[in-house]
Amino acid sequence: MQFEEALKLYDLELFDLGARADKIRRAYHGDKVFYNRNRHINPTNICVDHCKFCGFSAHRKNPNPYEMSIAEIAQTAAEAQKRGAKEAHIVGAHNKRLGLDWYFEAFAAVKKAAPNIHLKAMTAAEVEFLSRTYHLSFDEVLDRMIASGVDSMPAGGAEIFDEELRREICDGKVKSADWLAIHELWHKRGRKSNASMLFGHIETRAHRVDHLLRLRALQEKTGGFNAFIPLLYQTKNNFLEIDKTLDAEEILKTIAISRIVLDNVPHIKAYWVGLTLNLALVAQEFGADDMDGTIERESINSAAGAASKEGVSEKLMRDLIANAGFTPIERDSVYNEIG
Ligand code: SF4
Repeated sequence: MQFEEALKLYDLELFDLGARADKIRRAYHGDKVFYNRNRHINPTNICVDHCKFCGFSAHRKNPNPYEMSIAEIAQTAAEAQKRGAKEAHIVGAHNKRLGLDWYFEAFAAVKKAAPNIHLKAMTAAEVEFLSRTYHLSFDEVLDRMIASGVDSMPAGGAEIFDEELRREICDGKVKSADWLAIHELWHKRGRKSNASMLFGHIETRAHRVDHLLRLRALQEKTGGFNAFIPLLYQTKNNFLEIDKTLDAEEILKTIAISRIVLDNVPHIKAYWVGLTLNLALVAQEFGADDMDGTIERESINSAAGAASKEGVSEKLMRDLIANAGFTPIERDSVYNEIG
């Protein structure tokens, strides 16, 4: 798909666009809506980077720095496994005080304490941070992740790929080309990952389309992305100071266009944490097929205003999906169906 063709999709009427996206979604998944039982663990909020959209890192608007110990992280994963969680999703800020080995010792400790849990950890931004700080190649960081038990990589750190905009909102953090290169290297190891896009801040529709097309091109090459997650910018406690969030129509259009442009990525996730449960359910009719998971506890989006701190029960998740007219399907982290 060409840039102009993709951009013109925004001119379509919302329900026509939704119908087009829904056709692709139903061809892939019928009326299934996926979720998983997962536990988010955000080990630290002390960060050397200064992304303007971030409400999570410790700074003068959020003056509550914290670091979890390796024992705490492992115990949290073990307790989550006992409650039925299938995945530990571990991402955090770029904290130099922890040291390089801390990361790999933490992952190994999680695997020891919760051997059946799928470990999804380390955004490409974290990989680049370790590479930059400790003078390792991306390959070396990725190999150490695998050796310490990381199973798959999460979607974060992609933000928006346009280089000029990136300099404006998250200067210093992983560059777009490096984000893509890290995922390509991960896919070359036969591993899966997810991709994301932060939207609803100062970007234009053209920036979003450019972002989607760069992901589409990499997916054509590697086939390694399981899911794409359009992440809605949260307005609170950050330095972008944009009070107005996008309206539901623009959000749903962006999700539908993601489904159409990324028709080579199997899953589109409506991440309920940022969208709210209600809008995430509506999004299932506009191309999305996944709600993410029960979460249990979440610190990153909730620090920026999302009402997600405590997660949801599995029963509520299943009931909501069924009441919306879909079939709830529990999945594992790489989209094998569990029940
Ligand atoms: S988004 Fe991540 S890298 Fe950027 S300031 Fe926040 S915690 Fe640090």
